Amino acid sequence: MLVVKKFGGTSVADKERIFNVAKRCAEDYKSGNDVVVVLSAMGKTTDHLIEMAKDINPNASKREMDMLLATGEQTSVALMAMAFGAMGIPAISLNAFQVVMHTTKKYGNARFKRIDSERIHNELDDRKIVIITGFQGINKYDDITTLGRGGSDTTAVALAAALHADACEIYTDVDGIYTADPRIVPKAKKLEEITYDEMLELATLGAKVLHNRSVEMAKKYGVQLVVRSSLNETEGTVVKEEVEGMESMLVSGVAVDKNAARIAVIGLQNQPGIAFKIFNLLAKKNINVDVILQSIGRDDKKDISFTISRDDVEEAVALLEQNKARLTAERIESDATVAKVSVVGAGMQSNPGVAAAMFEALFNAGINIRMIATSEIRITVLLDEVDADYAMRAVHDKFIPE
Ligand code: ASP
Ligand code: MG
Repeated sequence: MLVVKKFGGTSVADKERIFNVAKRCAEDYKSGNDVVVVLSAMGKTTDHLIEMAKDINPNASKREMDMLLATGEQTSVALMAMAFGAMGIPAISLNAFQVVMHTTKKYGNARFKRIDSERIHNELDDRKIVIITGFQGINKYDDITTLGRGGSDTTAVALAAALHADACEIYTDVDGIYTADPRIVPKAKKLEEITYDEMLELATLGAKVLHNRSVEMAKKYGVQLVVRSSLNETEGTVVKEEVEGMESMLVSGVAVDKNAARIAVIGLQNQPGIAFKIFNLLAKKNINVDVILQSIGRDDKKDISFTISRDDVEEAVALLEQNKARLTAERIESDATVAKVSVVGAGMQSNPGVAAAMFEALFNAGINIRMIATSEIRITVLLDEVDADYAMRAVHDKFIPE
């Protein structure tokens, strides 16, 4: 059996944890499996590297940022190989160049295009444990790229797909996927399994356990994932395709995103093409828009509001202000004190009334809803950030049985 095992930063934060990971992998190896280990940078290394960069040059180029950030993962794979060496187990560390993991050219947010698997297979055939840097790739200029924060999960899934691995295990500092963040909702429970689509919604909504592109890729290539703790033997959560007849929970998770902001473009002419112009401007600057609300026109005027990430507020407002005349807007408003609370569940597709039940829970909690958006398996409400935690608990109580 070929197993890909990915360990996050907390799992390799110090010497003791590095040896803990090495021991777990050694058990697998000794039972006869081929073992590929993917690692993140140790502890908060990536954050520290970013701070160092900002201190030298707050506008450092993305290319140089990637050059810097990729060193974090290179440190952990080398140290891990040394730990195996100390235990007398043959192992080798490889970076993105040595594998070769090819990505698109975009620094800071590259995507995998292709992974050469020959070198890895050769090393495995020599009965070595192969330890690979997460989060990084090589672009067509032979430059180092990174995949975006949290991208090591995506490296693990991409490798599992390229190597046709029999298992892909994501080890982290929590026991699996929970129905909500247990720090906000103490009653939250660990799920035994969850579908790719549900996980994708939760990951995108800010449940930070998995990088959302890793889930996208797992779904696309049919890689079944297990998310579990590196610190104990608890079973974890399986992320997989929805099985016909599988009793899907009505709601499998409640998520919150506190990095949301609302922009309102007010007093627009009620004519065709306005929405296109607004969202095209934002799209060209790579600003992701989420919940969108257009008011019913009045006196030939209408308003369009939408949510974006707080990191993009300044840029979006400046852009809209510059184009105010062309958009026929009277004014632009922004509010960065909002949050999004969402319920996700594959069972929603065939069960009406989930939205009503969610709104009832919020009403009973005295919480005002500012905007609403839905997908087939998700309902999202925008509310004031100060209400977010309370709303999470109210909604969770409503849907998740004790
Ligand atoms: N080290 C990178 C980060 O902190 C990638 C990862 O951890 O997955 O974002
Ligand atoms: Mg992570």
